[in-house]
Amino acid sequence: MSDVKQWMTTAVCKGCNAVGTIRPILYGYPTDEMASNENIVLGGCCVSSNDPDYACKACHWECTRDPVSGELIGFPFEI
Ligand SMILES: [Zn+2]
Repeated sequence: MSDVKQWMTTAVCKGCNAVGTIRPILYGYPTDEMASNENIVLGGCCVSSNDPDYACKACHWECTRDPVSGELIGFPFEI
């Protein structure tokens, strides 16, 4: 579940313009394993129905990913 997908290695963060820093956000109370896993971003315990799926490791810019175009959409979502 914490695998770094191919697109993540080339994704550009729209918050800080870093490349390859986007990681999946994992919600819930973190285990020691999760806390030491550099391939995820901890999202905390508060989960709503409209949470971002990914975040930047460097600046914590949050986003979701369009399943069709692959474009990253910043949070809060512009829908
Ligand atoms: Zn960033």
